Parts: sequence; structure tokens; C-alpha cells
Amino acid sequence: MSKAAHMNLRAVLSAIPMIDTHSHVMGLQEMRRNSVNLFKIFGNTYARLDFISAGMSASVWEFNDNLENFWPLFKEYQPFVQHTAYYRATIRALQGLYGLKEETITDDNWQVLSERVTRAYQRNDWYHYVLKERANVNVGMLDMFWSVDYFCHDPSLFRPILRANPLILGRQYIYKFKGKAHYTSIEEIAQAFDGNLKTFEGYLDLVRTVIKGYKAVGSPAVKIATAYERTLEFLPVSRDEAAHLYVSEPQRLTPEEERRLQDFMARFVIGIAIEEGLPVQIHTGIFARNANILSNGNPEHLNQLFLDFPDARFVLLHFGFPYIGQAISLAKMFPNVFVDLVWVPLLSPTVARQVLDECLDLVAVNKIMWGSDAYQVEDVYAAACLAREVVTDVLLNKIERGEMNEEQALTIAQRIFYQNAMSLFRLNQDTKMVTGK
Ligand SMILES: [Zn+2]
Repeated sequence: MSKAAHMNLRAVLSAIPMIDTHSHVMGLQEMRRNSVNLFKIFGNTYARLDFISAGMSASVWEFNDNLENFWPLFKEYQPFVQHTAYYRATIRALQGLYGLKEETITDDNWQVLSERVTRAYQRNDWYHYVLKERANVNVGMLDMFWSVDYFCHDPSLFRPILRANPLILGRQYIYKFKGKAHYTSIEEIAQAFDGNLKTFEGYLDLVRTVIKGYKAVGSPAVKIATAYERTLEFLPVSRDEAAHLYVSEPQRLTPEEERRLQDFMARFVIGIAIEEGLPVQIHTGIFARNANILSNGNPEHLNQLFLDFPDARFVLLHFGFPYIGQAISLAKMFPNVFVDLVWVPLLSPTVARQVLDECLDLVAVNKIMWGSDAYQVEDVYAAACLAREVVTDVLLNKIERGEMNEEQALTIAQRIFYQNAMSLFRLNQDTKMVTGK
């Protein structure tokens, strides 16, 4: 293929609008609650995890409003992480959106950059500008962790996703963490939805009501991210056993009994998702924390679930990285298992290229999609740039090797970035929310 044809294909692929299947972008008002500056941007990116992994104290990131004090700490650890994909992605966003010329943060550029960040967040159209005009993302599916009574997102940019963790983990979750839950408790959810937790039937009714309620406000999927708290293996448990466990004192349940009740609830949630026609996104693989049990996220744990729920549509987020072979194999075998590149290009563009190259050899092309997993619009921009480059590189290589032609490559890119998500999540039923710039 000629150089001109290369450039042409690269440009055409770059112009395809995207559906971001999964992100956590904080609302503009939420971001503005405290002053927005350069190090707050870094603190909200995954790059923070690499600084902590390199030995920087996690707690200093919580109090980064005093920039003069924070900069020397940042500068001390920056040389250890400035080569990582997380760090590079943040630099990419700062270069593309804030005019950074250098490849790192320096004594000479951090203050002027920080002022530009602060000014950008005074713009009311900042999110619209970055997401629509710069990243060319049509709509993002937003996991806001939990917000039962408010949806603090712009419906022209985002659709809410129901994170089912508290529904599945229930009272045990609160008990286990002695009240220090990361999410809204099941009791608070019951209050917001007028539910009754006194009986097991009441609990099940509440779960059904919540899923239906989210669907009614436009949620196109249910997300299960319980690998952060426990293994992904959800074994069959009878309703009678679950009811018996539910009425027992939560404090008296053994870890095995807690797990069995959660197993039942996960399967119950999946059953409701089938009834409501909602796909189930599942966090698989590595965690966005500096400590956890890696193997809990192995997608192979889900195998029995795929056999038991042929009518559910499961999406394996993050390709199960580092359990990539397992995720791809499951998506190849099961008609109801899909894979999502979400987060992978941010974790490592090298891994993303390898994953997609292998996946296109093995898996039907209507089962692959992309998402950012970003916490702020700067990361959506970086993730979108990286994903476009990854997909373009992989497809160009396949054309070079004679495995497909340009037309096929274009169709595949459109499917990964747009069409597959539109179809799977039935976003076209509400085109008003997702079309047009
Ligand atoms: Zn996520």
C-alpha cells in the first residue's frame, strides 16, 4: 500500500465518531467543588497509581491544593514513571488540550500549565468542547459508582450505568468494612427507592425496582464490578438457601455463607437484566488500586455463568488483562460473550495492539468495542487518541499482510468504535441523546 493510501486510511479512521462504553467522568460542578489545577488533573488520572507504586505516599495526593508544596514531591518521583503509558497519556492530554510543548512537567512549565487548567474549567462548554469537538465521542456510558437520587451528568454527553455492586454485596459489604463503604449502602438505596429490607422478598423486589428505575432513566446496561471485593466465580445457590442466609444475623454468617448469598444475588441481578433486555458489563482483570487480589478478576471464573445464562449478554471489560487469552477464548466460544478494549490503550498501547491483533484473528468482529474508563474529560481525549492509533496500526498491519482490504478495515473500525455498542446497548432506540455534534 502506498504512503498516501496509509495516510488516507489513518485520516478516515480518525474521523469515525466513537461510543465510549464505560467511563467515570466526574460532573463539571463536582470538579469545580475545589479549585482545578494541574496536579488535581494528575491526581484524577491513572498516572497517580504509578507514582504511588513507585513509592510516593498515597495521602499526599489527597491534599494537592498547595501546589508549591506538592511540586517538589511530584518532581522527585516523576523520573520513575515518565515512561509509563498512564503518565504518557496524561502528557498527551496536556499537549493536545493545554498546549504543553515538553514531554514532562518542569520547573518552567508547571505554573503556566496549571493556570491554563484553572481557566479551562471556568468555561461552561469545556466538557462539550473536549468530548465532542476534540475527542469526537458521541456519548459516554457513565458509571457514577452510586447516585440513587441524582444523575449529575449532561444527557447530551452521557448515559448512566447501573453499578450493581451494593445490590449484590448487600449488608455483608457494610458489615465487612465496618461502615466504611465506598458505595451507597443497600440501606440508603432502600430508602431512596422506598424498599423494604426486612424480608428476603423485599430485598429481591428492591433489586428489581432499582434495575427497572435505572432503565427508565436511560441506563443501557448493568455493570458488575465486584471483582474489586471478591472472586468473579458466582456458583449456583438455591433460593431457599439464600433466603435462609438472608434472615440470619449478618455478623453470624461465615465468609463462605456470605459468598453464597452474594452468588445468589449476582445470578438474580443477571436474571433481571435478561428480563429487562440489558447487557451485563463485568469488570475483569487488573484493578485501578494499589492493592488487591489480582486473580479475583480472572474472567475464567465466569465460565459457569456463561453456560447457565445463555440468554444474557455479557461484556468482559478490559479484555481481562492480564488474563487476555481467557477473555478472548470465552468471547470466541460463547455467542453471548463480548469483549471491550476499555482502559487497555491507557494501560498500555503495546498490549492493546497485541490484544486487538490476536482478537481479530479469533473473534467475530461484531463482538468487540471500546471505552475510555476515564475519570475526567482530559483522559477521555487521551484514551480516544490512543485507541484510534491502536486500531489504525493493527488494521494497517493486517492490510499489509494481505489479511484484509481497506474497505474491510474501515468497516471493522466503525464496528469497534461505534456500531457494535449502538447495537448491543440498543442506543439507537433513543437517537436524540446520542447523535450529532
Ligand atoms: Zn471503570
